[in-house]
Amino acid sequence: MEKLILNEDELRFMDRYGLGLDDFYDARGETKREYHFNAKKEGCYYVINNYCQCGHRLKTRGGGHCIVCRPCTMAFQKRYSKDGAIYIASNGEYCKVGVVDNNSFSPEVTLAHRENSLNGEGGYGGVTGWKIVAWFMVDCDLGKKEDEIHNALSNYSVEKEYYHDGTYRLAREVLACSIDDALDAIDELFGDVSWHFMN
Ligand SMILES: [Zn+2]
Repeated sequence: MEKLILNEDELRFMDRYGLGLDDFYDARGETKREYHFNAKKEGCYYVINNYCQCGHRLKTRGGGHCIVCRPCTMAFQKRYSKDGAIYIASNGEYCKVGVVDNNSFSPEVTLAHRENSLNGEGGYGGVTGWKIVAWFMVDCDLGKKEDEIHNALSNYSVEKEYYHDGTYRLAREVLACSIDDALDAIDELFGDVSWHFMN
């Protein structure tokens, strides 16, 4: 099989909706009729097929609709509007802006876990030494705000391929900018950010 590279939009979407690779049948190269039958046999409601106009391949097995462009085709779409924390991580050379959901742990504990996973398996984007340097809480629209920040910082984005959890992935959240560049862009977007800075 051709090696599977999921892009950052696809992975972020999967993350946001709590979907894993197991939820998808690899239907690349298959017609709608073929994958409808095969995905059902595998117990998958979703398939990875050809690209939509916006560059996503995550589709419903039934209608073949892009679930990234039209999440309403899925029964659940809560995570996009959730609350949680937005963080800036840096390794001294690159930055990354990401989010963690609000959960039963304190944000500090959740962010410490995230920092560990950013540095696992050769590191996010093949880059190690990530430290979360600043974060703030948002009370709604976590996913939407994350998208707005990524758009605002897209000029700094560097694509890096890396291997994680058994798949090759394309990291688009590695930013060739300083911590101050990221802070400034976020302040400009949201104005009244209450930053917490880590030592
Ligand atoms: Zn799409």
